[in-house]
Amino acid sequence: MRILIKWCGLPWCMFAGSWLFEGLNVVKYVRDATPVAPPEPIVELSNVNGDVLRQLLSRLRQLISLASAVAWAKRVGLRVFIYGSAVPDPVSDFIRASLAGGADGILVDDFISINSDLIDVVHVNQRVGDDSVNYVIVSPDRPYQQSVRAYGVIVKDGVIDRDWLLRVRDRFRIIYGSREFLVMLDNSLFRREVIEELQDVVDGVVITEVPSLVSLDFDNYGAINVFRCINCYIDFETEGEMRKCPRCSNRLRPIIRRWDKFTVIEPKVLRLKAVDEIRYMRLGTPKVINY
Ligand SMILES: [Zn+2]
Repeated sequence: MRILIKWCGLPWCMFAGSWLFEGLNVVKYVRDATPVAPPEPIVELSNVNGDVLRQLLSRLRQLISLASAVAWAKRVGLRVFIYGSAVPDPVSDFIRASLAGGADGILVDDFISINSDLIDVVHVNQRVGDDSVNYVIVSPDRPYQQSVRAYGVIVKDGVIDRDWLLRVRDRFRIIYGSREFLVMLDNSLFRREVIEELQDVVDGVVITEVPSLVSLDFDNYGAINVFRCINCYIDFETEGEMRKCPRCSNRLRPIIRRWDKFTVIEPKVLRLKAVDEIRYMRLGTPKVINY
């Protein structure tokens, strides 16, 4: 049977969670930090039982949603942090998903502590001088709480409106001397239109909830191989193997296929792969051609 991406709230999803396939009978799979467009498959398994499948689908949905949200915001040029309280258990799974999206770090405060040597853990309100901190979280209705200098201001409960944001950004620059301006986004705000609206106004976003951007499906078919030409921006579906693009002769990138053996990408390498993949992805969905 195969699991596929049925729907994605973005033009493409960033795959994460291949480590969950460990110990299962994996026939084909997509490697982590690979963009996949619906309705492309992400894994083909044989002999998987119902309970395992149900848990797998529910976990994958969350991991792919988080990785995709991060990747999309990175694609439009924003810095991306995940708020510590948004990271469900098991924390290490969601850190890996964040890395697979190319996240810049996890943001923690005095109440939430996350320790990880895989991703930057940034402590809000950390003193960097006598009267200055790194990042400060500010509610627009109570902006004068602290009289400190801050490298960056993170707006909580902001209004997603260009003029409003520009005004607030300039005001905070004067109050805090801040160089960076970020906004917090919960699940209801994490939409493609919002991110595109924000891209020239803010320096980055802080994701405060794992968004639900993805739905998955499964059926009894085998997964077809997919190879991508990043030059033509085409995903070729084929029963066999393809190495070169039939249109431009560019080397194709395998998306899903039967690999020599099942290997999971090291977390330390994930972010590098994500950043590389995101650079080649365009704002639309790759064209899919059956070859
Ligand atoms: Zn090509």
